Amino acid sequence: MSSFKAIVIRKGEGGQTADLADFDDNDLMDGDVTFRVEWSALNYKDGLAITGKAPVVRRFPMIPGIDGAGTVETSAHPDWTPGDKVILNGWGCGESHLGMYGAKARVKGDWLVPLPDGVSARDSMAIGTAGYTAMLCVLALERHGLTPASGPVIVTGAAGGVGSVAVALLSKLGFTVIAATGRPQEADYLRALGASEILSREELTVPVRPLAKERWAAGVDTLGSVPLANVLSMTRYGGAVAACGLAAGLDLPSTVAPFILRGVSLFGIDSVMCPNALRRTAWRRLASDLDRGKLAEMTTEIGLAQVLREAPKILQGRVRGRTLIKIAD
Ligand code: NDP
Repeated sequence: MSSFKAIVIRKGEGGQTADLADFDDNDLMDGDVTFRVEWSALNYKDGLAITGKAPVVRRFPMIPGIDGAGTVETSAHPDWTPGDKVILNGWGCGESHLGMYGAKARVKGDWLVPLPDGVSARDSMAIGTAGYTAMLCVLALERHGLTPASGPVIVTGAAGGVGSVAVALLSKLGFTVIAATGRPQEADYLRALGASEILSREELTVPVRPLAKERWAAGVDTLGSVPLANVLSMTRYGGAVAACGLAAGLDLPSTVAPFILRGVSLFGIDSVMCPNALRRTAWRRLASDLDRGKLAEMTTEIGLAQVLREAPKILQGRVRGRTLIKIAD
């Protein structure tokens, strides 16, 4: 019998527990590719899974971790052979399928994307699901026809993982970026990532009016709830907002006024079940459009043993940028 180190969430009579433990290889779930996980990341959903603050985990025991990068060990899938470098984001890993906070993972080969040229496995998880989701938001706004000439773009939850990557990407693409944050002490950090203006979170928690003064051409929203409703009511005629998160809440106390009187569009962004072709496009664009110096600025590396301590902090909005997890060499 062989086993590997993993964070394991179990459910007992006293509730849910999460520990660093040995996990038996024989208990891995079905899949046609087994890979060595070298790097993973701490995402908001991983925080929810580990703390049990939301019913993210749908089978026990569970290895959390919604994303990982590493090297294929065995494959019965035509696209992959041992030694291939791969990335996995979502598809229910860390929720209904065993996730990436362990040195070994077995998944469907159809879920994997190749590590793009010029991106290391470490960098791919510094980007992680948060960064790949930020890229999906940018791609949606580009499909809408947004260009730097359209006007400024607001990014909410800007000092968080999705927000930090969105600020860096948009600024490299030539957009004027307004970074909305509840942490004024992160203003210098956000300016260094490329933000031209810092907006206080309070400006997006005012009572929502159907239409307010037009302030930006587009938005990347990680918050939902009142902030998203305000972002919509302040979006210029013909603009668009890509909504991917719920850090402020699941509700949306808006009206249809921005849509029917200003022609504003709201795009929903999902990274988990996103089709493989769009994933590959997003990863290729991340390889070319994300400044690596800025990526390094926003990244903090931890080991697997530190994950349990860091997980609650991401739910409290106390994590800056991206938390990269070294799983194995
Ligand atoms: P982080 O925790 O890194 O960032 C969230 C940021 O939101 C915080 O840093 C903080 O930014 C702000 N924030 C936190 N709590 C509140 C609050 N109560 N009210 C207002 N602002 C708040 O998380 P991620 O960036 O990884 O994820 C952001 C959101 O996107 C999450 O809801 C996550 O679930 C979602 N997500 C969705 C995906 C999808 O497929 N749709 C994929 C990945 C993430 P600041 O301090 O700057 O104000």
